[in-house]
Amino acid sequence: MDAAPQGCAVVDRDAVARRDVSRDTFGRTIDYLRIAITDRCNYRCVYCMPAEGVRFKPHEQILTFEQIERFVRVAAGYGIRHLRLTGGEPLVRRGVAELAGMLSAIPGIEDISITTNGALLPRYARDLVANGVSKVNISLDTLDAQVFRDVSRLGSLDEALAGIDAALEAGFSTVKINTVAVRALHQDFLGLARMSLDRPLHVRFIEYMPIGDEDMQLDTDEQGSCGTFKDVSTWSMEDTIPTDELRAAISAAGERAGLGPLLKADRRPDGHGPADYWHFAGAQGTVGFISAMSNHFCASCNRLRLTADGCLRPCLFSDVEVNVRDALVAGDDDALRAAFEQALRIKPDAHHTAGTERYMSQIGG
Ligand code: SAM
Ligand code: SF4
Repeated sequence: MDAAPQGCAVVDRDAVARRDVSRDTFGRTIDYLRIAITDRCNYRCVYCMPAEGVRFKPHEQILTFEQIERFVRVAAGYGIRHLRLTGGEPLVRRGVAELAGMLSAIPGIEDISITTNGALLPRYARDLVANGVSKVNISLDTLDAQVFRDVSRLGSLDEALAGIDAALEAGFSTVKINTVAVRALHQDFLGLARMSLDRPLHVRFIEYMPIGDEDMQLDTDEQGSCGTFKDVSTWSMEDTIPTDELRAAISAAGERAGLGPLLKADRRPDGHGPADYWHFAGAQGTVGFISAMSNHFCASCNRLRLTADGCLRPCLFSDVEVNVRDALVAGDDDALRAAFEQALRIKPDAHHTAGTERYMSQIGG
C-alpha cells in the first residue's frame, strides 16, 4: 500500500494492478460471469427454441474447456468472482464436473453454480458438488405431466422431479427452481410455490422474455387453453405476467388455501441474481420473482455472459458482443484483456426489450 499524500485517498496500487474490482462505465461492479458451455439441449422448450432445434454451432466453434479456463483466469484478474455454468443444457456436454474442478481452482473464483433442466442431475449431481459447484438452479414450469411434455417437447416431469431430489441429496448449498411464467400456459403457480414449504427449495418465477428469433415463440389455441404450440408465432406482451400481478395472485391463492399471504423474506437465499424474495409463514424455502420485463434491474446489473462459441455479451437483451474466441485460439492474453475491457466499456446502462437474434439456449439465460 502506498503512503497517502496529505488529503488524498490511499491508493492500493497492488489492488489496482490485480484489478480486484471491475466497474463498467456506469459505475456498476461486474463480478459475475455466466458461461454457456454448449448450445445443445436434450429439450426444446417452447419459449426457448424451435421444435426442430436451432442450427447448432459446429464443434470447432465451441470453446474447449481449456479455452474457457483461460478466459476465466483473465476474467478473475478483473474481479470476476462468481461463475454460472449454463447453456443450452450444460449437463449434455461431457465432463462438466471436470470443467468445474478446473474453474474452481482458479485464484479469485469464489463460487460456481449451474443452471440445468435437471434431467441429468441424478447422474451428475454428486460429481458436481465434489468439484466445487455449490448451487444449482433447476428449471420446472409445471407439475402437470402432460403440460411438461408439451412445454419441453422432449422431457418428462418425472425426470425433472428426480433431478430436484438428486440435487437436495447431493448437498448443494442452495437449490432453486426456475419457472418461466407464461400466461398462455395456465400454470398452477400456487402448486409450484408450495414446493418451498417442506423442503429448502427456492421457487422463482421469471417473467417471460422476448429472446430469440421472432419466429420461435409460443402461441395459444383459439380457446386460449394450454397445449397448442406453433413454431412460427411471436412472443407477445400479453403472455408475460408482470411480477406484481403474479405475486398478488399467488399470495391470494395461498390465503385461500390456508397458507396465509406471501410475506417479504428477511433473508435472501445465497446467490448473485436480481430476484425479489418472499415466503409463506413457516416455509423452509422462499418464493422469488425475477422481473426483467416489468421492473428493469439494469442499474444493479453485475454480469457478463460468455456464449458457447466465444462471444462476450455485455447485455442479455443486446446482440452487441465482443469476440473472444479469436484471442483464445491465438492464445493471446493481451487480446483477451482488451476484449474484456471493451465489454466493460460497451455494457449499456439499460436494456431494450425488442428481442434478439440469438435464442435463449445460445445465450444461457
Ligand atoms: N437448459 C438449462 C435450463 O433450462 O435450466 C439452462 C439454460 S436455459 C436457457 C436458462 C434459463 O432461461 C432457464 O431457467 C429457462 O427457463 C430460462 N428461459 C429460457 N427462455 C426464456 C424466455 N423466453 N423467457 C424467460 N426465461 C427463459
Ligand atoms: Fe433447453 Fe433450457 Fe432452453 Fe429448455 S430452457 S430448451 S432445457 S436450454
